[in-house]
Amino acid sequence: MQLLGAHVSISGGVSKAVERAEKLGFTAMQIFTKNNNRWFSKPIDETEAERFRLLLKNSQIKFVVSHSSYLINLCAKNHDTLKKSRASLIDELNRCEILNIPYLNFHPGAHGGQGEKEGIKIIAESINIAHSETKNFQVKSMLELTAGQGTNLGYRFEHIAEIIDLVKDKNRMAVCIDTAHIFAAGYDIRTPEAYEKTMSEFDKVIGLDKLKLLHMNDSKKELGSRKDRHEHIGKGFIGLDGFSNIMNDKRIRNVPKILETPKGKEQTEDIENLKTLKSLIK
Ligand code: ZN
Ligand code: MN
Ligand code: MN
Repeated sequence: MQLLGAHVSISGGVSKAVERAEKLGFTAMQIFTKNNNRWFSKPIDETEAERFRLLLKNSQIKFVVSHSSYLINLCAKNHDTLKKSRASLIDELNRCEILNIPYLNFHPGAHGGQGEKEGIKIIAESINIAHSETKNFQVKSMLELTAGQGTNLGYRFEHIAEIIDLVKDKNRMAVCIDTAHIFAAGYDIRTPEAYEKTMSEFDKVIGLDKLKLLHMNDSKKELGSRKDRHEHIGKGFIGLDGFSNIMNDKRIRNVPKILETPKGKEQTEDIENLKTLKSLIK
Protein backbone atom coordinates (compact mmCIF):
# COMPACT_ATOMS: atom_id res chain seq x y z
CA MET A 1 0.00 0.00 0.00
CA GLN A 2 1.31 3.44 -0.92
CA LEU A 3 1.56 6.02 1.85
CA LEU A 4 -0.62 8.99 0.92
CA GLY A 5 -1.70 12.20 2.59
CA ALA A 6 -1.48 15.97 2.61
CA HIS A 7 -0.17 18.93 4.52
CA VAL A 8 -2.15 19.31 7.77
CA SER A 9 -2.61 22.32 10.06
CA ILE A 10 -1.20 22.28 13.62
CA SER A 11 -3.69 24.86 14.84
CA GLY A 12 -4.45 24.10 18.49
CA GLY A 13 -1.16 22.22 18.93
CA VAL A 14 0.97 19.75 16.97
CA SER A 15 -0.97 16.75 18.31
CA LYS A 16 -4.15 18.15 16.73
CA ALA A 17 -2.57 17.54 13.32
CA VAL A 18 -2.47 13.80 13.99
CA GLU A 19 -6.19 13.81 14.84
CA ARG A 20 -6.99 15.78 11.68
CA ALA A 21 -4.92 13.51 9.41
CA GLU A 22 -6.41 10.41 11.00
CA LYS A 23 -9.95 11.70 10.47
CA LEU A 24 -9.18 12.36 6.81
CA GLY A 25 -7.89 8.82 6.36
CA PHE A 26 -4.29 9.76 5.59
CA THR A 27 -1.41 7.33 5.97
CA ALA A 28 1.19 10.11 5.58
CA MET A 29 1.20 13.75 6.62
CA GLN A 30 3.25 16.93 6.47
CA ILE A 31 3.20 19.66 9.11
CA PHE A 32 4.91 22.88 10.08
CA THR A 33 6.14 22.50 13.66
CA LYS A 34 5.51 26.23 14.22
CA ASN A 35 4.03 29.28 12.50
CA ASN A 36 5.71 29.13 9.09
CA ASN A 37 5.95 32.92 8.81
CA ARG A 38 7.99 33.31 11.99
CA TRP A 39 11.71 32.90 12.52
CA PHE A 40 11.35 31.39 15.97
CA SER A 41 8.60 30.08 18.22
CA LYS A 42 8.33 29.08 21.83
CA PRO A 43 9.68 25.58 22.44
CA ILE A 44 7.28 22.66 22.13
CA ASP A 45 6.37 21.59 25.65
CA GLU A 46 7.12 18.02 26.62
CA THR A 47 3.49 17.12 27.40
CA GLU A 48 2.36 18.17 23.94
CA ALA A 49 5.32 16.38 22.33
CA GLU A 50 4.48 13.21 24.22
CA ARG A 51 0.84 13.46 23.19
CA PHE A 52 1.93 13.88 19.55
CA ARG A 53 4.22 10.85 19.65
CA LEU A 54 1.61 8.66 21.39
CA LEU A 55 -1.28 9.62 19.09
CA LEU A 56 0.95 9.02 16.10
CA LYS A 57 2.08 5.62 17.32
CA ASN A 58 -1.51 4.49 17.71
CA SER A 59 -2.65 5.90 14.37
CA GLN A 60 -2.64 4.67 10.78
CA ILE A 61 -0.18 7.46 9.87
CA LYS A 62 3.08 5.77 9.01
CA PHE A 63 5.08 8.74 7.73
CA VAL A 64 5.51 12.31 8.98
CA VAL A 65 7.61 15.09 7.52
CA SER A 66 8.03 18.65 8.72
CA HIS A 67 8.26 21.52 6.22
CA SER A 68 10.52 24.34 7.39
CA SER A 69 9.52 28.01 7.61
CA TYR A 70 9.45 29.88 4.30
CA LEU A 71 11.58 32.65 5.78
CA ILE A 72 14.72 30.51 5.90
CA ASN A 73 17.21 31.24 3.13
CA LEU A 74 20.37 29.18 3.61
CA CYS A 75 22.35 31.27 1.11
CA ALA A 76 20.93 34.72 1.91
CA LYS A 77 23.08 37.57 0.67
CA ASN A 78 22.24 39.68 3.71
CA HIS A 79 24.43 38.63 6.61
CA ASP A 80 21.75 39.01 9.30
CA THR A 81 19.25 37.01 7.26
CA LEU A 82 21.81 34.27 6.75
CA LYS A 83 22.60 34.18 10.47
CA LYS A 84 18.91 34.04 11.38
CA SER A 85 18.27 31.38 8.73
CA ARG A 86 21.01 29.16 10.10
CA ALA A 87 19.78 29.53 13.68
CA SER A 88 16.20 28.93 12.57
CA LEU A 89 17.18 25.73 10.72
CA ILE A 90 18.83 24.40 13.87
CA ASP A 91 15.69 25.30 15.85
CA GLU A 92 13.54 23.41 13.32
CA LEU A 93 15.80 20.34 13.54
CA ASN A 94 15.44 20.45 17.32
CA ARG A 95 11.65 20.60 17.07
CA CYS A 96 11.63 17.58 14.75
CA GLU A 97 13.89 15.65 17.08
CA ILE A 98 11.63 16.31 20.08
CA LEU A 99 8.62 15.16 18.06
CA ASN A 100 10.46 12.16 16.62
CA ILE A 101 9.87 13.41 13.06
CA PRO A 102 12.38 11.70 10.74
CA TYR A 103 12.66 14.41 8.04
CA LEU A 104 12.86 18.19 7.89
CA ASN A 105 12.08 19.30 4.34
CA PHE A 106 13.34 22.70 3.17
CA HIS A 107 14.06 24.65 0.00
CA PRO A 108 17.79 25.04 -0.74
CA GLY A 109 17.81 28.87 -0.91
CA ALA A 110 17.90 31.92 -3.19
CA HIS A 111 21.34 33.31 -4.02
CA GLY A 112 20.11 36.87 -4.58
CA GLY A 113 22.70 37.70 -7.22
CA GLN A 114 25.73 36.02 -5.63
CA GLY A 115 25.69 33.42 -8.39
CA GLU A 116 24.68 29.76 -8.42
CA LYS A 117 28.09 28.27 -7.59
CA GLU A 118 28.52 30.56 -4.60
CA GLY A 119 24.94 29.95 -3.47
CA ILE A 120 25.43 26.19 -3.53
CA LYS A 121 28.61 26.52 -1.45
CA ILE A 122 26.88 28.69 1.17
CA ILE A 123 23.89 26.33 1.40
CA ALA A 124 26.16 23.34 2.01
CA GLU A 125 28.05 25.32 4.65
CA SER A 126 24.74 26.21 6.35
CA ILE A 127 23.76 22.54 6.42
CA ASN A 128 27.17 21.51 7.75
CA ILE A 129 26.87 24.06 10.55
CA ALA A 130 23.35 22.82 11.40
CA HIS A 131 24.51 19.21 11.45
CA SER A 132 27.46 19.93 13.69
CA GLU A 133 25.11 21.75 16.09
CA THR A 134 22.74 18.77 16.15
CA LYS A 135 25.16 15.85 16.42
CA ASN A 136 23.62 12.37 16.75
CA PHE A 137 20.16 13.63 15.82
CA GLN A 138 17.94 11.13 14.00
CA VAL A 139 16.16 13.75 11.87
CA LYS A 140 17.42 14.04 8.32
CA SER A 141 17.76 17.15 6.18
CA MET A 142 15.57 16.91 3.12
CA LEU A 143 16.24 19.16 0.14
CA GLU A 144 13.21 19.98 -2.00
CA LEU A 145 13.59 20.51 -5.72
CA THR A 146 12.21 23.91 -6.72
CA ALA A 147 10.61 25.63 -9.71
CA GLY A 148 13.55 28.04 -9.91
CA GLN A 149 11.60 31.26 -9.44
CA GLY A 150 13.82 34.32 -9.18
CA THR A 151 17.26 33.29 -7.94
CA ASN A 152 16.04 30.14 -6.19
CA LEU A 153 18.45 27.23 -6.46
CA GLY A 154 17.40 23.58 -6.64
CA TYR A 155 15.66 23.69 -10.02
CA ARG A 156 18.27 21.36 -11.51
CA PHE A 157 19.06 17.88 -10.20
CA GLU A 158 22.72 18.92 -10.40
CA HIS A 159 22.20 21.66 -7.79
CA ILE A 160 20.95 19.12 -5.27
CA ALA A 161 23.75 16.68 -6.13
CA GLU A 162 26.39 19.41 -5.71
CA ILE A 163 24.99 20.48 -2.34
CA ILE A 164 24.95 16.89 -1.05
CA ASP A 165 28.47 16.46 -2.38
CA LEU A 166 29.64 19.35 -0.20
CA VAL A 167 27.75 18.17 2.91
CA LYS A 168 30.00 16.19 5.24
CA ASP A 169 27.38 13.87 6.73
CA LYS A 170 25.74 12.51 3.59
CA ASN A 171 23.76 9.95 5.60
CA ARG A 172 21.74 12.83 6.96
CA MET A 173 20.63 13.98 3.50
CA ALA A 174 17.39 13.15 1.70
CA VAL A 175 15.57 14.62 -1.30
CA CYS A 176 11.96 15.56 -2.09
CA ILE A 177 10.55 15.83 -5.60
CA ASP A 178 7.73 18.35 -5.89
CA THR A 179 5.99 17.44 -9.15
CA ALA A 180 4.78 21.00 -9.83
CA HIS A 181 8.24 22.39 -9.13
CA ILE A 182 10.24 20.02 -11.34
CA PHE A 183 7.68 20.39 -14.14
CA ALA A 184 7.92 24.18 -13.99
CA ALA A 185 11.69 23.76 -13.90
CA GLY A 186 11.51 21.95 -17.24
CA TYR A 187 11.45 18.23 -16.31
CA ASP A 188 8.58 16.64 -18.23
CA ILE A 189 6.69 13.67 -16.71
CA ARG A 190 3.54 13.62 -18.88
CA THR A 191 4.27 10.70 -21.21
CA PRO A 192 5.84 7.36 -20.22
CA GLU A 193 8.93 8.27 -22.28
CA ALA A 194 9.35 11.74 -20.77
CA TYR A 195 8.74 10.35 -17.27
CA GLU A 196 11.34 7.64 -17.77
CA LYS A 197 13.87 10.19 -19.02
CA THR A 198 13.29 12.45 -16.00
CA MET A 199 13.46 9.63 -13.47
CA SER A 200 16.55 8.02 -14.95
CA GLU A 201 18.20 11.44 -14.94
CA PHE A 202 17.28 11.85 -11.27
CA ASP A 203 18.74 8.42 -10.56
CA LYS A 204 21.93 9.17 -12.48
CA VAL A 205 22.52 12.64 -10.99
CA ILE A 206 21.18 12.29 -7.42
CA GLY A 207 20.30 8.61 -6.91
CA LEU A 208 16.82 7.21 -6.32
CA ASP A 209 17.97 5.93 -2.91
CA LYS A 210 17.97 9.57 -1.75
CA LEU A 211 14.34 10.13 -2.78
CA LYS A 212 12.27 9.94 0.42
CA LEU A 213 9.21 12.05 -0.43
CA LEU A 214 7.08 13.27 -3.32
CA HIS A 215 5.00 16.44 -3.14
CA MET A 216 2.09 15.66 -5.42
CA ASN A 217 0.94 18.91 -7.00
CA ASP A 218 -0.33 19.66 -10.48
CA SER A 219 0.96 22.90 -12.02
CA LYS A 220 -0.98 26.02 -12.97
CA LYS A 221 2.01 27.00 -15.12
CA GLU A 222 3.54 25.42 -18.19
CA LEU A 223 6.59 23.21 -18.58
CA GLY A 224 9.74 25.26 -18.07
CA SER A 225 7.85 28.36 -16.91
CA ARG A 226 9.95 28.52 -13.69
CA LYS A 227 6.76 29.63 -11.88
CA ASP A 228 5.61 27.92 -8.67
CA ARG A 229 1.79 27.64 -8.70
CA HIS A 230 0.11 24.49 -7.41
CA GLU A 231 -3.10 23.11 -8.97
CA HIS A 232 -5.45 20.23 -8.13
CA ILE A 233 -4.42 16.81 -9.46
CA GLY A 234 -5.39 16.49 -13.12
CA LYS A 235 -6.52 20.11 -13.44
CA GLY A 236 -3.17 21.61 -14.40
CA PHE A 237 -0.55 21.33 -17.13
CA ILE A 238 0.84 18.02 -15.83
CA GLY A 239 -2.51 16.24 -16.08
CA LEU A 240 -3.65 12.76 -15.04
CA ASP A 241 -1.23 10.89 -17.32
CA GLY A 242 1.75 12.39 -15.51
CA PHE A 243 0.43 11.35 -12.12
CA SER A 244 -0.43 7.90 -13.46
CA ASN A 245 3.24 7.46 -14.40
CA ILE A 246 4.20 8.18 -10.79
CA MET A 247 1.49 6.12 -9.11
CA ASN A 248 2.44 3.07 -11.18
CA ASP A 249 6.21 3.32 -10.87
CA LYS A 250 7.30 0.30 -8.82
CA ARG A 251 10.68 1.86 -8.01
CA ILE A 252 9.03 4.57 -5.94
CA ARG A 253 6.03 2.67 -4.62
CA ASN A 254 7.37 2.91 -1.08
CA VAL A 255 8.10 6.64 -1.29
CA PRO A 256 5.36 8.59 0.57
CA LYS A 257 3.28 10.98 -1.53
CA ILE A 258 1.88 14.16 -0.01
CA LEU A 259 -0.44 16.78 -1.49
CA GLU A 260 0.21 20.53 -1.23
CA THR A 261 -2.73 21.50 -3.42
CA PRO A 262 -5.18 24.33 -2.65
CA LYS A 263 -7.70 23.57 0.11
CA GLY A 264 -10.23 24.94 2.53
CA LYS A 265 -10.37 24.40 6.27
CA GLU A 266 -12.24 21.09 6.01
CA GLN A 267 -9.72 19.72 3.48
CA THR A 268 -12.41 18.03 1.37
CA GLU A 269 -10.28 18.96 -1.67
CA ASP A 270 -7.51 16.73 -0.30
CA ILE A 271 -9.89 13.79 -0.09
CA GLU A 272 -10.90 14.38 -3.71
CA ASN A 273 -7.30 14.69 -4.92
CA LEU A 274 -6.27 11.51 -3.07
CA LYS A 275 -9.23 9.69 -4.58
CA THR A 276 -8.02 10.80 -7.99
CA LEU A 277 -4.47 9.58 -7.30
CA LYS A 278 -5.68 6.19 -6.05
CA SER A 279 -7.93 5.78 -9.10
CA LEU A 280 -4.85 5.99 -11.32
CA ILE A 281 -3.22 2.87 -9.84
CA LYS A 282 -3.44 0.11 -12.44
ZN1 ZN B 1 8.29 23.31 -0.13
MN1 MN C 1 6.50 21.40 -2.24
MN1 MN D 1 5.58 25.28 -4.39
